[in-house]
Amino acid sequence: MKVHAIQTGFVKIKSAQVEGHGHNRITRQLAIFADRNWTEWLPTYAWAIEHSEGVIVVDTGQGAHLLQTGSSYHPYARWEVVFRIDPEEEIGPQLRSLGIGPRDVKRVVLTHLHMDHDGGLAHFPNSEILVAPGEIRTASGWAGRIRGYLPNRWPSWFDPVPLELGAEPIGPFARSRRLTRAGDIVAVATPGHTADHVSILVQADDTTFFLAGDTSYNESLMLASRVDGVSPDEGTSIATLNAIRGFVQTNPTVYLPAHDPQSATRLANRRLVGIVEPTVPLAVLVPRDPPRDVVS
Ligand SMILES: [Zn+2]
Repeated sequence: MKVHAIQTGFVKIKSAQVEGHGHNRITRQLAIFADRNWTEWLPTYAWAIEHSEGVIVVDTGQGAHLLQTGSSYHPYARWEVVFRIDPEEEIGPQLRSLGIGPRDVKRVVLTHLHMDHDGGLAHFPNSEILVAPGEIRTASGWAGRIRGYLPNRWPSWFDPVPLELGAEPIGPFARSRRLTRAGDIVAVATPGHTADHVSILVQADDTTFFLAGDTSYNESLMLASRVDGVSPDEGTSIATLNAIRGFVQTNPTVYLPAHDPQSATRLANRRLVGIVEPTVPLAVLVPRDPPRDVVS
């Protein structure tokens, strides 16, 4: 089994979206509009898992159509987010360069339906596409558009299979669903960023690769239980972040949020949560020979 990080361009958002201001949903969302501070360009990752039962893609990343959100009628899309992507950076061309054709992808699983996660759907007309049923309801139709989703950009053939999670707890996660017969790739409920957000856990050897979607924008925010500015319910988000921390304490885990600038490096190095790489070479911290003047 191999997990590939596929960067589908970059996104800039407001600092108040990355880390919410205030405890009330409306207050936090208005703070995004009031904020004048933008992030750096953040990556938008999708993931491809080469598995003996077939390739599974998790999220589809950005599409080049997102370059037009500046003329959108939706105030968030128009003013509060900026995208950067070339057409060849979409997920389809990148999978082909890895030797993975559209028909090789058995399943696509979406952590949620925000525009930078469903933007590459057009590349998967032959795959089974799984989305949590509540997320489909929230994102569909005019109500979805008013909430900031782009159902009008879904391919005409888009008819996702409801990803129903069962009452099968995995550690602190109450509901889950196996995505492989082997049981080594599992979806778990991680509500917070959206009410029906899911994360995908990939078990390889003794390590869990935690494809976290937007449960937090980076690992530090998860470790600090800091809720983002768009989560509809602060308490739900905190409970999920606490559950993730509980999980990583007992399972060696590589935590991989979709917009964390460190995610690809962390995946390549299999860097576990909680292991901080020293910024000073160890040889400097631990001299081989004690200094002469302290030798008695
Ligand atoms: Zn999102």
